[in-house]
Amino acid sequence: MEQRPNPGLISVVCPCFNEEDGLAEFTARIGRVLTPLGQEYEIVFVNDGSRDGTLAVMHGLAAREGNITVVNLSRNFGKEIALTAGLCHATGDAVVVIDADLQDPPELIPEFIARYREGWDIAYGRRTLRQGDSWLKRATAHGFYRLMRRLGPVDLPENVGDFRLMSRRSLDALLQLPETHRFMKGLFAWIGFPSVAVDYVREPRFAGKTKWNYVKLINLSIEGITSYTTAPLRMTTWLGFVLALAAFAGGGFYFIRTLIYGEDVQGFPTLFLTILLLGGTQLIALGVLGEYLGRVFNETKRRPLFLIEQVRWSGAGAARRPA
Ligand code: UDP
Ligand code: MG
Repeated sequence: MEQRPNPGLISVVCPCFNEEDGLAEFTARIGRVLTPLGQEYEIVFVNDGSRDGTLAVMHGLAAREGNITVVNLSRNFGKEIALTAGLCHATGDAVVVIDADLQDPPELIPEFIARYREGWDIAYGRRTLRQGDSWLKRATAHGFYRLMRRLGPVDLPENVGDFRLMSRRSLDALLQLPETHRFMKGLFAWIGFPSVAVDYVREPRFAGKTKWNYVKLINLSIEGITSYTTAPLRMTTWLGFVLALAAFAGGGFYFIRTLIYGEDVQGFPTLFLTILLLGGTQLIALGVLGEYLGRVFNETKRRPLFLIEQVRWSGAGAARRPA
């Protein structure tokens, strides 16, 4: 792999939703890590429709620091899209994607840069210990990754979030993917490029509380699976075959039994259960179909991914931004 110099400018992209308490500390931590390296950087804050003072805090920091871009979305679009909006406004030769809550330690960034210099395009953080998470969240996450590995076209690395450094060329590749359903982990994996893991311990949130709950996580998983692979469609086809086969076998069995033992009017429970089972399976199959149909529907609308209320560019960003 070919060595290369430090990136001239690093963009630290950070989507924020109600993070007013943490941003000052966040900005200071980033500075403490990158300034000693002599690394020029900009921070790209995306305000994802926060309902607290996040935007004001961002502007305050931007006025003080001069190297902060503030992208204010018109409403809350969700983390994945907010992140995409930030990436679109990053002007660096490399970008770092990081959460505002300091669960991803900025101290890892020098390690990322070292990997970048070795020639890797993507250096991603891999959590070795999830301190802030319950065992249930860890177990469900593990199950989800196993499922995705079985179903998907490319390997999704486990225990890897969005926290990573990307070279300009891999970022440009990522930004070429136009879909509105953005399951970032899947997109990150899909683009390929030489990638390397950097292990770290994930800490509990610094301030505020997580916006995720199990309903949201289940929805994200469905989103992930259906925007990443069409395997569920194939699985419903198989399910249909298996049930039809069972029905044929059952039909043969009852036919012969009736010939031998004659007919009786028992069997109401079996009938009842069979109808329920078939009805349920059909509804699930319809639901799976519907998921994909809905996806097609949304993509055909060709709406912009996000709408921007206002952008305040950083000094370096203003100089470098495309006309
Ligand atoms: N976030 C966002 N929009 C949302 C929800 C979250 O931009 O609708 C941001 C949030 O401010 C944080 C990051 O996404 O910087 C991760 O969110 P959170 O810490 O709640 O998720 P977790 O760490 O629990 O996965
Ligand atoms: Mg977090």
